[in-house]
Amino acid sequence: MDETIGNARILIVDDNAANLAVLAELLAMAGYTAVFTEQSARRAVARWQAEAFDLLLLDIRMPDMDGHAVMAALRAHLACDDYLPVIVLTAQTDRETRQAALDAGAIDFITKPFDFDETLKRIKTALNTRLLHTKARQQLNEFGQTISAQTEALIAKEHDLAFLAAHDSVTGLLNRRAITERIHTMALEPHQGITCALIEVTDTDQLLLMEGVESVDMFLRTVSTRLNRVMEDHLGLCGVWGGQTFLCVLPFTGDAVRPVFDRLAQAVFTSVAQFDFDVSLHGRGGYSPVQPGALDAAAIDAAIRRAGFALASLHKRCNLLVEFNQIMADTALRRNLVERELSLALRHNPAQLFLQFQPKVDLSRERVVGCEALLRWDHPTLGWVSPAEFIPLAEEKGQIEQIGLLVIEQALQFIQRMQRECGRAVMVAVNVSGYQFELMRAKGGSLVDEIHALLKQYQIDPQYLELEVTESALMSGLDWVIEQLHRLRALGLSVALDDFGTGYSSFSYLQKLPITTLKIDRSFVDNAATQPRQAALLGGIVRMAQELGLTTVAEGVETAADIQLLKSFNCPIAQGYYYSRPIMPDAFVALLNQPGAIKPAHSAIVPIHPPISYCNQDPTHD
Ligand code: C2E
Ligand code: MG
Ligand code: MG
Repeated sequence: MDETIGNARILIVDDNAANLAVLAELLAMAGYTAVFTEQSARRAVARWQAEAFDLLLLDIRMPDMDGHAVMAALRAHLACDDYLPVIVLTAQTDRETRQAALDAGAIDFITKPFDFDETLKRIKTALNTRLLHTKARQQLNEFGQTISAQTEALIAKEHDLAFLAAHDSVTGLLNRRAITERIHTMALEPHQGITCALIEVTDTDQLLLMEGVESVDMFLRTVSTRLNRVMEDHLGLCGVWGGQTFLCVLPFTGDAVRPVFDRLAQAVFTSVAQFDFDVSLHGRGGYSPVQPGALDAAAIDAAIRRAGFALASLHKRCNLLVEFNQIMADTALRRNLVERELSLALRHNPAQLFLQFQPKVDLSRERVVGCEALLRWDHPTLGWVSPAEFIPLAEEKGQIEQIGLLVIEQALQFIQRMQRECGRAVMVAVNVSGYQFELMRAKGGSLVDEIHALLKQYQIDPQYLELEVTESALMSGLDWVIEQLHRLRALGLSVALDDFGTGYSSFSYLQKLPITTLKIDRSFVDNAATQPRQAALLGGIVRMAQELGLTTVAEGVETAADIQLLKSFNCPIAQGYYYSRPIMPDAFVALLNQPGAIKPAHSAIVPIHPPISYCNQDPTHD
C-alpha cells in the first residue's frame, strides 16, 4: 500500500465496542498504521477538532449524539475550502437514512455487517480522494502565497516607479516635472507670492575628470542636502532643474527673500569635505519673484526663465545669487541674437565681415609705417556690431577659426592691393585670438601652417605681416604657443604683444616670448599727459621695451599732448584717433598715396567711414 495512505490517520466512532474492534483489526491487518477508535460521539467531536484526522468512520446511531449531529458539529468548524471526510457506518440501508447522511456531509456508506473487501476498498477510495484534496489544497496555498508575494513586490515596485518618476535618481530631490507641478499646487493655496531661484554649481567637470562619476554624485548629494535644509526651514521647495542646476522656491516675496538666499549661498558655496580632500564648491544663482495675484502657470514659467537670465549674467564661479533685472534679459537676448546672426553671416554672407585699417605712425617722421587690420561686421538690421561684442562669442562657439583665416586672407589681399596701387606696402598687423591656436591644435593642424600656405598662395613677403597676440592667447598652453611664435618668427613674420599692461604677469612673459613689438595698452596712454604718475609708468614701459630691443607702439593716442609726451619718451610708433580712426581700404590707399596726409593735426585726418552709431563708441573724441 502507498505509504501516505498507510499512514493516514483514521478515527472510528461507534458506541459498539465490538464493531470498533473488528474494524480496527481489519484496518491494521490491511496495513493502516494510524487507526484510532472512540466509543463516545461527544469525545469524538472534541478529538476531531483537537487532532488532525484524514478519515472518520462514523456510526449513525449512538446514544449520546447521533451521527448526523456529529457531522453538523464538525461542519460548523470546517474551513470554507474543506469537506468532511466521513464514511457513515450503518445497518440501515433505507433511502431516507442514506439521504440524511449525505445531506449532513458524508461522502460514502459502509453497511453493517461489514463486507471486509468492500469496506477496505471504500476506505481506500475515500483516503485517495482525501489525499488528492490535501495535495490540491497545498498547491492552492502555495500558489496563493506566490501570488500575494508577487502582488506585494508589484506594489513596492509601483511605489518605486512613482518615486523615480517624481525624483532625481542621484540626489533624491524632486525632478523638473514634479517640482513644476508642486509649484503650481503651491500657487493654488492662499499665498504671499512666490520667489523662484535657479542655482548652478560648477566644479563638477573637474571632479568628474579627477575622481570619477561616483564622486560627482556624492558631491551633488551634499549640495542638495544643503539646499534642502535651508528651503525646509522656510517652507520652500527644492528640486533638480538640470544636471547641475537646482530650482528653489520660496512661498513669499519681498525683503524677506534676500536673507534666505544669502544663507543659501553661504550654505552651498563652501567646501565639501566628504572626499579625501576638500573640494571648494563654486557656483552662481539668480532669482525672480511672482507677485500674489499673478500666479498662473505662465507667470511661474516666466519667473523661472528670469531667474535663468539672472544666473547667466554672472561669472560661473562667483558664488553670488542675484535678483533679475531687465538689463540681464536684454543682454542675454542680444547675445543670442548676435550669436545666431554671426553663424548665418559666416554661412551665407561672409562679405558682411570686412577689414578696416588703422594707421600706425612713425612719430619722428610723421609717416604711416604700418596699420592694424580691425574686423568690422555690417549687419543689414543690427548695423555695425563691434568686434569687442562678437569676437568673444565667436571664440566661445569655435567660429573664430573661420573668422581668423578670413581676416588673414583679407589682410594679404590688402597688402597685394597696396603694392599694386601705391607702389609700396606697409606692414599689416592682424589680431589673433588664442582660441585660433587652440582650435587648430585640437584638429591636429597649426595656425602657422595655415598662414604659411596663405602667404605662398598670395605671394606675400612675410615681412609685411604682423600678428598681434594678447596675453590671454598664451593661456592656451604657453610652451606650445611660444613654439608656434618661434616658427612664425622663423618664417619672417613680426609678432606684437597686444594690450600690454592689461594682463597680470606681462613682465615675466616678456623674457620668454619671441616677440618683436610691444603694443602699450590705451589705458597707459590715457591721461598720461596730465597725470605725472601715469606719465612715469608710460615712460618706464617705453624705456624697458627699448632696452629689450622691442619696437614700441603706443595705442589709443587721442591728443596732441599724448603725442608730445610719447615723443619726449622716444616712443617710435603711435596709433590712435589722433591720427586716424580705422578706415576703409580705399581711404587707406588714398592716405598712402598722399604723402604728408598724416600730420599731427585733426584737420588732416582721413575721412572716417563707420556710421555714427559705431563712432559713438567714444563720443568724446569725435
Ligand atoms: P585691439 O586689438 O586692442 O584694437 C584696438 C582697438 O582700439 C580697436 O577697437 C580700435 O578701433 C580702438 N582704438 C584705436 N585707437 C583708439 C583711440 O584713439 N581711442 C579709442 N578709444 N579707441 C581706439 P575695435 O576695432 O573695436 O576692436 C576691439 C578689439 O576687438 C581689438 O582690440 C581686438 O582685440 C578685437 N579685434 C578686432 N578685430 C579683430 C580680429 O580680426 N581678430 C581678433 N581676434 N580680434 C579682433
Ligand atoms: Mg590689436
Ligand atoms: Mg590693443
